[in-house]
Amino acid sequence: MISSLSISNHDRDVTGLKYIYPVISRRAGGLSIGINFNTNNACNWRCVYCQVPNLIKGVAPALDFQLLEDELRLFLHDIQRGGFYRRFQIETEQQAIKDIAISGNGEPTSVEHFARAVALIGDIAVEMNVFPDSHFVLITNGSLMHQKNAQEGLKVLNEFGGEVWYKFDSATKKGRAEFNGATQNLSKALENIKISSALCPTKLQTCWFDFAGRGLQENEKQAFLDALKMIGETTDVNEILLYTLARPSMQPDASRLKPLSNAVLNSFADEIRSLGFHVSVAG
Ligand code: SF4
Repeated sequence: MISSLSISNHDRDVTGLKYIYPVISRRAGGLSIGINFNTNNACNWRCVYCQVPNLIKGVAPALDFQLLEDELRLFLHDIQRGGFYRRFQIETEQQAIKDIAISGNGEPTSVEHFARAVALIGDIAVEMNVFPDSHFVLITNGSLMHQKNAQEGLKVLNEFGGEVWYKFDSATKKGRAEFNGATQNLSKALENIKISSALCPTKLQTCWFDFAGRGLQENEKQAFLDALKMIGETTDVNEILLYTLARPSMQPDASRLKPLSNAVLNSFADEIRSLGFHVSVAG
């Protein structure tokens, strides 16, 4: 049965396509066309709040470029002819492609020939008049930014006027291990943010939540603010999306997580703003 899409329905199989999934996105304010390279649900991180079911450790599988091309063309045609909006009962005010977002069920920069994939998506979107009106976005945990494969892709993304949404949740060793399952230390992470912002406009996305009843932890907050000061001094990054949990985690610690209140998020946002950053808050 075909269901209508909503903010809470991010079912990646809803269109029956392998690489493409539509999301009515709060963040984008309309239709976001997601591109998922990690069809094997493999990521090099293991965030406690991750919504990917059956998440495994690993990298994206080999990409079928012809299938990606066919699916993207087919899907964009369907949108432009109105068929998609009719079938999924998308409200008129949300009938706009806000962005094409390379995101998905794992770290997208782990796919081989990442630059070729970015170029293919960009070329089709230009040819079909989706760009430049819609944004081109890469959502990444940034952990592979030191690798040539990721850097080449960012150069191409930049050529299409795209932007990077870079995940940065914690500036402590404990927090990065506990919240993200990341082993990369802070100085490497800061170096990677620098690499990203030098190659393509980069914004930070940071998810804060109550883990095991600890609320917003003072030491985490302080370390994060200290790291932001360094980021502000050494990069062009000046935009941050601060958000909390909106949908259930599919990971084993799901029951230990709770969203933070809007009041807590807003007060934290003000502290970040005092460092000179633009902050949007998504509760
Ligand atoms: S980086 Fe993204 S896909 Fe990977 S574990 Fe974290 S939330 Fe899930």
